[in-house]
Amino acid sequence: MQQRWLIAVLALIVIGAGLLTRRGAGPDLAAAHAATGSLAGKTIHVDAGHNGGNASHATEINRLVDAGGGVRKACDTTGTETNDGKLTEYAFTLDVALRLRKRLEARGARVVMTRTTSKGVGPCITRRAAIGNEAHADAAVSIHADGGPSTGRGFDVIQPGGVSGQSHALIASSALLGRRVRNALVKEGYRTADYVGKDGLDRRTDLGGLNLSKVPKVLVELGNMRNAADAKLLESGTQRARMADALATAIAVQVTH
Ligand code: ZN
Repeated sequence: MQQRWLIAVLALIVIGAGLLTRRGAGPDLAAAHAATGSLAGKTIHVDAGHNGGNASHATEINRLVDAGGGVRKACDTTGTETNDGKLTEYAFTLDVALRLRKRLEARGARVVMTRTTSKGVGPCITRRAAIGNEAHADAAVSIHADGGPSTGRGFDVIQPGGVSGQSHALIASSALLGRRVRNALVKEGYRTADYVGKDGLDRRTDLGGLNLSKVPKVLVELGNMRNAADAKLLESGTQRARMADALATAIAVQVTH
């Protein structure tokens, strides 16, 4: 008899604890639901670097354009590729960009893309910047992979260095976005570049896409295509998904703080 009572009391304790735990999880579940749509009303510009038709349209893409800060540069470039030629940068950047769009839209953001296929030419860096500006994007990210020395590894997040026409506030918010992207990639286990920049961060004033931006923007080189170990990562769909996760996390933090 005593044993039955003991079992009954224990059962009540277990049920009670279960109810308490469930009640305790209530606010967390509510927060998770709110987070799903937390980017509603926010606009993000996702810029997939280069394009599939660039290599066969040399005249168009080599045309010099005003890249801001007194710099004249080619309208666009072909981008790089892995040493075995199996993966082009333009294909890689589009895949990560589409994955990123999916994640941002799932959270309720409006996503403006530079391109959604690799069948076109360009657009010029001037147009790439204008797309984000015209959309009044809350944040913009240009996705690239580098063609660095074969011995160099890692990602590099390039922030605008600040040229005339760019406010201190814009440079500061871009720098913040850059650190958030860097931190999110490190958290996913990616290593910062050991051949360029410092601690995964860089600042440049010669990139039209950054110089001409009026919205917080960074350009991320997600790895070095010319390095065998990095190429392996960049070729992996699983890794690209994780890279897109990291970018989405960083952007979400940026536009909600
Ligand atoms: Zn590139």
